[in-house]
Amino acid sequence: RHGIVRAHNQTMMVTSQPVPKTEHTVIRLDGKVIDVEVSACPITYEDKTAIYIIMRDITERKKTRLFLNLQYKTAENFDQLINLTDGITNVLKIVCTNLKVDAGRVWLLDTNENSLYCLTIWASDERSDRLFDKTKSQVTLQTDDCLPAIVWSTGEPFWLDTSLPANSQLAENYDFQLGIGIPIINAQEFIGVLELMHSNTFAIDHSLIEALTGVAKQMSSYIKHKTAEADMLYLSKHDAVTGLSNRIFFEESLTFELYRARSKNKRLAVLLLDIDKFSILNETLGHDICEQMLVQISELLLNQVAYADNVARFAGDQFSIIFDEFQRNQDITDFITQVNTSVAESIMLEDQKINLKFNVGISIFPEDGDTVLGLMKNASIALNKAKQSGHGSVQFCTSDMSSRAKNRVNIEHDLVEALDKEELVLYYQPVVDTKNMTVAGFEALLRWNKNGSLIPPYDFVSILEDTHLIIPVGEWILNTACLQCKAWQQELQIPLFVSVNISPVQFADPDIFETIENIINTTNIDPACLKVEITEGAIMSDVQRSVKILNKIKQIGAKIAIDDFGTGYSSLNYLRQLPIDYLKVDRSFVINMVTNPNDAAIVRAIIVLAENLGYKVIAEGIETEEQLKFINKLGCNEIQGYYFGRPMPVAEATEFLKQNKKIL
Ligand code: C2E
Ligand code: MG
Ligand code: MG
Repeated sequence: RHGIVRAHNQTMMVTSQPVPKTEHTVIRLDGKVIDVEVSACPITYEDKTAIYIIMRDITERKKTRLFLNLQYKTAENFDQLINLTDGITNVLKIVCTNLKVDAGRVWLLDTNENSLYCLTIWASDERSDRLFDKTKSQVTLQTDDCLPAIVWSTGEPFWLDTSLPANSQLAENYDFQLGIGIPIINAQEFIGVLELMHSNTFAIDHSLIEALTGVAKQMSSYIKHKTAEADMLYLSKHDAVTGLSNRIFFEESLTFELYRARSKNKRLAVLLLDIDKFSILNETLGHDICEQMLVQISELLLNQVAYADNVARFAGDQFSIIFDEFQRNQDITDFITQVNTSVAESIMLEDQKINLKFNVGISIFPEDGDTVLGLMKNASIALNKAKQSGHGSVQFCTSDMSSRAKNRVNIEHDLVEALDKEELVLYYQPVVDTKNMTVAGFEALLRWNKNGSLIPPYDFVSILEDTHLIIPVGEWILNTACLQCKAWQQELQIPLFVSVNISPVQFADPDIFETIENIINTTNIDPACLKVEITEGAIMSDVQRSVKILNKIKQIGAKIAIDDFGTGYSSLNYLRQLPIDYLKVDRSFVINMVTNPNDAAIVRAIIVLAENLGYKVIAEGIETEEQLKFINKLGCNEIQGYYFGRPMPVAEATEFLKQNKKIL
């Protein structure tokens, strides 16, 4: 007499065919609501037509499907590029609507305050307003009278059925009959709580808890990832001591100001300021006092300029300012006199003026350069001059420029010949695998052997790039490095990779992929043993093209590393589109990471980020045992630095390999 049976019966009477399977919700005799799948077919029974019906309880199966779907949708949502709150809110909504529960909240741990704060709320209907009103933004962790605090203290899921006498106290302030709390945990670190609320209570459901735990796990890595991104964004742009912009941010601001100056046809000055005899103060007064002084100085400088972003602290006692409120150069010197007077008068030590002064180097757009790099370089040359004179002297950059320009023409000329004269050589620096602390490969680094003296790449690679000589030279480098690697592998019968730097100009060359592919083929190197190092900037100048090329490089099996990672920032959002294998933490962060918490935080953030994206991490510039221990604790995959070995010529590198002893 059941409706389902009747419906099937009628259909079959007409068709005499089995009915396709259908799904229904029915109430079992014991009152439980279950999902069933019904199939029916006609049979003959004692010469009569009858129907044979099978009803299968598919409640569990449906639930599993629902839960799988839930986790899939969560993952899909997190794949999109959105900010933390929006990402988590979307997922909360997906969870509530799919599970048909009335409301949900996500709480995050605020370690400073020792409390949980409500990141986001979702509710299905008019309840939402009330819920929003009633939700405390902050819950202290000592209280055990609320669900999120209980989940925090036990670290376990909590099923709050308010109808149970045991929960009567908790139920008092709870607007819902059922509450479910799931801890959000990442690598054993408690991050927050996912809380769901519903008007009707039902019996504890372990498979639901399991599914929600899966969702919470995904949330946890997303939250970790996003907070690392945000921390890194701030840290990577500000100086930890004074809170001023750092060099990276300053150069970004300068790019922008240059653009403005150009469009308005205005001049613009870059001032580099360095406190006279600061090192003596540092030694006599000690680090802490001097740091306080730097903070005071930064406040004074901020008072003198219109935009805070246009003042930066680079390192030690070096500050810089972008200045455009001038007509004549005299206005700039007047400004500096004003700064020096205020610093001299305000900076006191135990009621004593210490008469601080800045030495200042100045370069001006457009006459001293029209690029960030050019202006910074020339201001720095001017500053060096000013420091030589000392006592708060001010030096404009002028004649230096032209002499450098002349010098450059000479170098260009010599470089063209260097190629033919075979003066360019590759040095090799060992890269150590942290798993077993042995040499896993080498980075090939270019040197110019000019009349017996070895010129480092910083002095000539940019000229190779400007003249596009880097394209044939780069091809030579790739080829030489691959041949050398292959030779070592054969001679010593060991696995080994070689890392080759690809310049942005080279990467922009339309034939770059073919060049790499050809060299792999002709040198017969195992592609997996070639690692190409490319800087973020090179990739970001045309992301779509870069992704295509990187994919092709990856397809033929070579490895890709992002070099100097952390110095160019804008690109983090694109990272996950990129088919790369390694992030190479820039040496500038490694240098001070043991002593400077700011740098340590950046390195840590990069490692977390890489982990989340499935990339490996290389740290370069390890010079001391302390740095080695520090980085090993953070968990890097490969390391490189003077501590293990400097870049060396082939013969020396061969010797080094033969010993290939354990480094530790
Ligand atoms: P890079 O690719 O980031 O290379 C790492 C640089 O850090 C190398 O300097 C290396 O000698 C140095 N280094 C490594 N460990 C330590 C350490 O523990 N302490 C210190 N102080 N330095 C360390 P190098 O050889 O002067 O190269 C500088 C840059 O020049 C390279 O940076 C790369 O951007 C460029 N370059 C070098 N060779 C080539 C090349 O063959 N092609 C291209 N396109 N660029 C190259
Ligand atoms: Mg490199
Ligand atoms: Mg590097």
